[in-house]
Amino acid sequence: MSRAFNFSPGPATLPEPVLRQAQAEMLEWRNARASVVELSHRGPEFLQVARQAEADLRMLLSIPDDYAVLFLQGGATAQQALIALNFAAPGQQADYVLTGHWGLTALKQAAPYVDARIAADGETGGYRDIPPRAGWRLSDDAAYVHYTANETIHGVEFREVPEVGNVPLFADFSSSIAAEPLDVSKFGLIYAGAQKNLGPVGIAVVIVRRDLLERAGQPRAPIFDYRAHLAGESMLNTPPTWNWYLLGLTVKWMLDEGGVAEFARRNARKAALLYQAIDGSGGFYRNEVAPAARSRMNVPFFLHDPALDAAFLGEAAEAGLISLKGHRVLGGMRASIYNAMPEAGVQALAAFMRDFQQRHG
Ligand SMILES: *Cc1c(COP(=O)(O)O)cnc(C)c1O
Repeated sequence: MSRAFNFSPGPATLPEPVLRQAQAEMLEWRNARASVVELSHRGPEFLQVARQAEADLRMLLSIPDDYAVLFLQGGATAQQALIALNFAAPGQQADYVLTGHWGLTALKQAAPYVDARIAADGETGGYRDIPPRAGWRLSDDAAYVHYTANETIHGVEFREVPEVGNVPLFADFSSSIAAEPLDVSKFGLIYAGAQKNLGPVGIAVVIVRRDLLERAGQPRAPIFDYRAHLAGESMLNTPPTWNWYLLGLTVKWMLDEGGVAEFARRNARKAALLYQAIDGSGGFYRNEVAPAARSRMNVPFFLHDPALDAAFLGEAAEAGLISLKGHRVLGGMRASIYNAMPEAGVQALAAFMRDFQQRHG
């Protein structure tokens, strides 16, 4: 076996025990005499998988009973459009706080269905910081306020849940859900594509305050209606059963490892180690995000001389460290260090960075 430490931003590394269990259960799931991927989603075996995944996710994230949990297709991006369809009355306004690429995507996806306003925009500073809360232009009658908890490309993360008064707070948690304890009751809605921190691509999770679902929103087909998905237990049509199963295994693994409080401690150590390697390099490496807004999940960094980028990536891969190439929007490097990335992986990366600097500095 030559599995590397995989710093991919998403689809991302999965816990090895999860992959091993999926491998062991691939041909026959328990006593089902078939693979879970071959069984009806309405049969007792898959219903057990689905319900256990929800129960475990509720436990992992301490989701209160007055919140519904939906398992949906279309990734995070579809939810960015659906939240406007489901919660904004025709012509109503919604406020968007932009701290990077994904916030802007969210606004563009929603714009056909809601009067999407930019309440604050970090772009003038190159998305290197969070615009101070005091300067946000929020409206009391907005359908919701939307922000991106962690910007996966720009490496900018909110450390606190922003206060927005009585307007429901909606958040994209695709790349930081379950990274630390979270007070779900502060939100109207949280959504996340699973492929960063919850498991495989092909399934997204929506956590929504039940009373908000009764708000009318725009006219929409049942398949785009969160109420219909809730009534149908997220099985309005055939759900992505394999992805749901893998998500369930991943969530169970997180519970077994000690839950979100334990991952918060590990993530803090991993991020500190990597930022130290960058900041302590005397300028050989640099991260440009304001320290208080630095992401613990996605760490973009640049070499002082971009001509060394190819050598860095090649030698890193030889050292067993893969998928470090930065997003095309920013260039440079990016290390994604989600819950499933072991501390040993970040230690190996930091050691490689020092070694590379010694040879090329
Ligand atoms: C990856 C990502 C998305 C897009 O997710 P898809 O599942 O590809 O639609 C949206 N927001 C954030 C913060 C992301 O990291």
